[in-house]
Amino acid sequence: MPGAQANSISRKLTWMNMLVSSAALLLACTAFIAYDRVTFREAKVLNLSTQAQIIGSNSISALLFNDQQSAENTLSALKAAHNILSAGIYTPGGRLFASYSRDSTSQTAAIPSIPPGQVEIHWLKSDEIVLVRLILFEGKPTGMVYIRSDVRELNGRMKRYAGIAAIVLAVCLMAALLVSSIFRKSVADPIVRLAEVAKVVSRDKNYSVRATPTRDSSELAILIDAFNEMLSQIQQSERALRKAHDGLEHRVLERTAELEAAKKEVEEFSHSILLAKEEVERGSKFKDQFLSTMSHELRTPLNAVLGFSDLLADERYGPLNERQQRYVSHIHTGGKHLLSLISDILDLSKIEAGRMELAIESLRVAPTLGEVVSVMQPLAEKKSQTLTKVADPALSIRADSTRFRQVLLNLVGNAIKFTPNGGHIELSAILVQDKVRVEVRDDGPGIPPEEQQRIFEAFYRLRETGKKTEGTGLGLAITHRLVELHGGELSLESKVGEGSCFYFSLPAAATISIATAAKAGNVPKSAHLPRVLVIEDDRAAAQLIQSQLTSAGYEVMVCLESQNALETAVQFHPGAITLDIVMKPKNGWEILSQLKRDPRTAQIPLIVVSIVDQPGMGALLGADEYLVKPVEKKILLAALERRINSRPVSAHVRPILVVEDDTATREFIAEMLVTRGYTVATAADGAQARAQVAANLPELVILDLVLPGVSGFELLGEWRASPRTADLPVFVLTSKDLNQEEQRYLRAHAESLFRKQQPWHEELAKQLARVVSMGPPVKV
Ligand code: ADP
Repeated sequence: MPGAQANSISRKLTWMNMLVSSAALLLACTAFIAYDRVTFREAKVLNLSTQAQIIGSNSISALLFNDQQSAENTLSALKAAHNILSAGIYTPGGRLFASYSRDSTSQTAAIPSIPPGQVEIHWLKSDEIVLVRLILFEGKPTGMVYIRSDVRELNGRMKRYAGIAAIVLAVCLMAALLVSSIFRKSVADPIVRLAEVAKVVSRDKNYSVRATPTRDSSELAILIDAFNEMLSQIQQSERALRKAHDGLEHRVLERTAELEAAKKEVEEFSHSILLAKEEVERGSKFKDQFLSTMSHELRTPLNAVLGFSDLLADERYGPLNERQQRYVSHIHTGGKHLLSLISDILDLSKIEAGRMELAIESLRVAPTLGEVVSVMQPLAEKKSQTLTKVADPALSIRADSTRFRQVLLNLVGNAIKFTPNGGHIELSAILVQDKVRVEVRDDGPGIPPEEQQRIFEAFYRLRETGKKTEGTGLGLAITHRLVELHGGELSLESKVGEGSCFYFSLPAAATISIATAAKAGNVPKSAHLPRVLVIEDDRAAAQLIQSQLTSAGYEVMVCLESQNALETAVQFHPGAITLDIVMKPKNGWEILSQLKRDPRTAQIPLIVVSIVDQPGMGALLGADEYLVKPVEKKILLAALERRINSRPVSAHVRPILVVEDDTATREFIAEMLVTRGYTVATAADGAQARAQVAANLPELVILDLVLPGVSGFELLGEWRASPRTADLPVFVLTSKDLNQEEQRYLRAHAESLFRKQQPWHEELAKQLARVVSMGPPVKV
């Protein structure tokens, strides 16, 4: 409301002007009138006093001579003074001597006494002034004059003054109004306009308007200029801001578009990744399926080929002529070659597909090396080569035992294969810092430098040696990758004509002490497997016997301290004992007689394995077998088998149930068992096996895992869940590639696990001999 505002500020200015001027005027008038009133009164009193003095002087003689008439005449002179209302002359005693009154109504009042020391007193009484004065003659009071005067003149004067003041005030107010209207134009109007502009700016955010400048150079002009300047600055900033804002908006739009495009791209990309992932998953599923199917489908018939060619070669069903023998041998060799090729290809595919799972554990190196040496010894012997092993028995590594053995078998196998007759091969393991360095060294033909890297490629064989020997060129590729999977690297040092050394290093594990293991009473897990206690104080000799027995499937405990031999035998009650003679502090003879005298150990078959050649003494003291060192593995195992298998035959023989869907394999296993004197029953699928076990509990089951209908895993699960079959021994014989979980399950629920891809016939027979009692050979 600009009008209201204008009104308000100019009215305020007008009011202010008028109030200030009227207040100033009123104050001035009041002061002036008050002053005039006081001075007028004082002048009046002075005038009255003079008149009283004159009257007094003129009345002295009248008083002295008591001439009342003369006194009244003197008083009558007061007629000329209109203001005198009444007057009187009094005697010093206060008696009225003469009086005057302007009109007859005026009374002369009683005279008050004058305070001593004073000559005159006066006082004001409503509209009157009263004065009393002593008449002195020769210093003595002769009488008193009393004069009463009215002050109507004063009132008239005051009224006049008030009128003048009112007129002056009115004129002043008019002037103030005039001044206000002038000031309103020069002060209020510019302020009002400024306020209006400020209002427009604040309401419309319109910074282009300007306040009208004034012509003068007052503070108001400065204020308006500053205000306009501020507006132009705001306008500029606003313009710059708008520009920046527009730029930003543009950039935001651009970025949003870019982001949208990128989002779209990412979506498309993730979709394509998803598709690719699905593709890879499908491919990997297919690969898995392919691997497991191939491993099963290829190995099953090959097993039958190998098994039956073995049986034929044994001439169990009649003699073969030389040609037939040759052919059977060809079939067997071809089958073996094919089986190893298939195993290699499957292993390699498994590694390449990232499906090779390792069961890493702490593994004692020396026994594994011993095992490898004893397995490969016959091959080396065939070529009159020496195969030696060097390893500290205390060395342990972190590795998968099966794969570690596979690596060593392959390297030693190659060394034997490519080293000419009479050569030397050494398998060694030494501790280098915190790693165990394993070496396979031969003095064979060596490998030329240009071919040293290539031999680790799949299917690569040396131009020279490769042609002369059979092989696939896969062994080193697999070995190389297996070592890599263990965190090591297979390397080669070789000089043509001098020999080769393949080596790799794996992390060392904490040392496992065999003696303490026996002492600490670590009772082996599977109680039904015969345990053999090796009493031998020489660590290396004990290790050798241990590896010979372990490789044959025995569970072995070593007692290095001869004084603890009896105690250990009592505590663990092994299936057999091997005993050295030359020992300290207690010698073997003492221990032998102790063991045979003690009823708790007397029945345990005891085989003396000693350098001392005194079998007669051994027999005398009760030894069941006496072997003189060095003892061949075969001989040691045969002696053990003889002693362990000479258990009494049970009266009611239960059959061994062979569960296998492949007819040829089933027949082969049955044949193998019957020829070894076992009673056999067979089942071609899971349902049959389930029914047979329910009807007649077998002594043991040989179980394939991949069966039509009910699988081997299901059967095993069912049997373990039922109290009747919970302890039924089950040997799993399979060509299935097992993952870690399946292996764990079988280790927990099956007695033994045999893989068809590895030689299993002998091993199975050995395990059976330990678990099953034999009846007359019957095939059910
Ligand atoms: P394969 O033994 O089936 O031929 P490998 O992959 O095990 O396949 O070996 C590849 C090649 O490396 C062999 O064919 C052989 O020529 C060469 N080789 C491997 N080990 C030795 C060795 N100890 N001495 C000489 N040559 C070797």
